[in-house]
Amino acid sequence: MSDLFISNLPPGVTAATPVEKRLLAEYGAMFVAQGVTVPNNIVFRDEEEVSEFQARIHISHDKIGGADMELQSAAMDALLKAEIVAEQKGLSISPRDSDSARRSYRDTVELWASRVEPALDHWESEQRLDRKDAERIRSLSPYEQVPVILQLEEDGIYFAKDLSKSIIYSVAPPGASQHLSLLAFDIKEHANENVRAILARHFWFQTVVSDLPHFTYLGVEENELPNLGLKNIENGGRTFWIPDIQI
Ligand SMILES: [Zn+2]
Repeated sequence: MSDLFISNLPPGVTAATPVEKRLLAEYGAMFVAQGVTVPNNIVFRDEEEVSEFQARIHISHDKIGGADMELQSAAMDALLKAEIVAEQKGLSISPRDSDSARRSYRDTVELWASRVEPALDHWESEQRLDRKDAERIRSLSPYEQVPVILQLEEDGIYFAKDLSKSIIYSVAPPGASQHLSLLAFDIKEHANENVRAILARHFWFQTVVSDLPHFTYLGVEENELPNLGLKNIENGGRTFWIPDIQI
C-alpha cells in the first residue's frame, strides 16, 4: 500500500482484512476528505454504528435541484455554490433520486439484498450452490455476508445485478456506502463534462469508477489530491480519483 494514502487515513482506520482492503480500494477515497468528519472504521457493522456516527457530524439540510437533501455541512456549502455557478452558465445540478445524498443503514441493506436474494435463487437453480449453503448465506447478517459472497465470486459465482461481475460494482456492501457518511451525492447531470468541471472546482470528485452518477466531497482542490495519496484514472473521458493502494 502507498504510505501516503495510509498516512492520511484517520487514526483507527486500518485495512486489517482482505475484505476491508478491497473495500478501501473501491470506496476509500472519502477517508482522506478534508474539513469534514469521516468514520473510524471502513465498514459500519450495523444500524447502531451508523446512527452514532450520523449523530456526531454537522449536517446541513437544503434544497439541491429543488429537492430536500442532507449532507455534511462543508459538503453542502460547496455543492450549493457549485449549483449557483452551474445556473449562471445555463446548466443545472440535481439529484438523481430521493436517496441521492443521505442514506440510512437500512437503505444500504435493502440495496444489498436486492442483488443478493435474486443471485442466491439463480445460483441455487443453476446448482452452483446447494440449498443448504444458500440457506446459510440467507441467515447471515449483511455484514457477515460480505466476505462469504466475495469468496464465492472468486469462483465465478457473481452477485452483481447481471450476475457477470462482482456485486461491489453493482452496490456498495451495507455499511461501506459513502452516502452513510453524508459525503456523497448522485447527480442526474453526471454525463455533462461542464457540470463535472464545476463540481471539481468545488471539491466534488468522481471516486468510484463503477458508479458514474456518484460524486464524493473531498474538501480540497484537485491539484492537492495526490498529496492525500489519491491517484487519477481516466475512464470513458472522465477523471476518477481513487486510493493509490495495491490489493
Ligand atoms: Zn452514490
